[in-house]
Amino acid sequence: MMDIREAVRSHNDELIALRRDFHAHPELGFQEFRTSRKIEQYLKALGMEPMKISTTGVVALLKGRTDDGPVLLMRADMDALPVEEQTGLPFASEHKGLMHACGHDAHMSMMLTAAKILSQMKDSFDGTIKFVFQPNEEIAGAQIMIDDGVLENPKVDAAMGIHIWSPLPSGTIGVKAGAVTSSMDVFKVTIKGRGGHTGYPESAVDPVVCATAVVQQVQSIQTRFVSPMKPIALMFGRISGGTKNNIIPDSVELEGTIRYQFATKPGNADNPTDKFKQMVTDICTVYGCICTFDFNHENDAVINDPKMSALSYDVAKEIVGEENVVAHASMACEDFAAFGEHVPASFAFIGTASEDARSNYPHHNPRFTIDEETLPIGVRFLVESALRFFSQK
Ligand SMILES: [Zn+2]
Ligand SMILES: [Zn+2]
Repeated sequence: MMDIREAVRSHNDELIALRRDFHAHPELGFQEFRTSRKIEQYLKALGMEPMKISTTGVVALLKGRTDDGPVLLMRADMDALPVEEQTGLPFASEHKGLMHACGHDAHMSMMLTAAKILSQMKDSFDGTIKFVFQPNEEIAGAQIMIDDGVLENPKVDAAMGIHIWSPLPSGTIGVKAGAVTSSMDVFKVTIKGRGGHTGYPESAVDPVVCATAVVQQVQSIQTRFVSPMKPIALMFGRISGGTKNNIIPDSVELEGTIRYQFATKPGNADNPTDKFKQMVTDICTVYGCICTFDFNHENDAVINDPKMSALSYDVAKEIVGEENVVAHASMACEDFAAFGEHVPASFAFIGTASEDARSNYPHHNPRFTIDEETLPIGVRFLVESALRFFSQK
């Protein structure tokens, strides 16, 4: 049996070079053409037969000793963000206004390196690994891949994914069963009153005072309507209305996000968006206003399967030690949730925050970067998780 730690170490230079090359050439969702070509070439050189799916996505199969064993899907996302990079790194983005500010460059390089090591070990497992390189994570690309058949041919039995994670320190891995990211509904509410003179407010219907009541009151949805044990973040990102200081406007617009770290759907008693709609409507009635809504459900929460996350926990414990495995969950969104709605799945966070590496900026920040010392941790985690998965069946 190959020493996996040694195998990962021997690929370290290539791993870093891959990450820096992806980093220098960021591409937005469904425009990852160069990225996609590079992944295809790399997998071909390993003897696999990669196929294109969902515009820029790439899928490749690695068959073990026998191909009648289970099929494990391993996913890396590919897209960058419309952010102007300010890291000053020598391998900073060469594409103006675009940046790998979420670490997806790291995910691809770790997955390719894991594919290389696993392809050298294919005589040591029974089953098939389906490597999935997924476009457009930032705007729910996973569901499109599923619609395009990524879970079929061969049929996938389980899925796993990782995210390099600056909220966690380098040398830690975040794993837990249950919800680890949040569901998100985005909203726009238009509150309509009747405009007028601020000297005669009684003759108008003031949507501004109504809007302030809305912003305050909906915060009590969590605790009074949904259990305090179910995390919700109800945030307003934009309020707009009015033209001048002495004019009561006709209407005010409010936009924001409702994030909730549990599984629910419209119509359920604990659905915060249903409660939001009802409460805003009632508050508007009190103030004599009327309101219209525009909602969009963007992502479901990633809900880790108990068995798959127990496997991830055991692997993480071996790599970083039990004291460095944390039960981490985030209010961020991750479209990996879509895979977990079809097959047992586990999603883990590879900590990467280090003061020395200046990698403690938040994701999506123009100064975001990773601690490259944590790349081999991710590779080992992927390789050992796959081997453990097949040995458990
Ligand atoms: Zn992101
Ligand atoms: Zn991301």
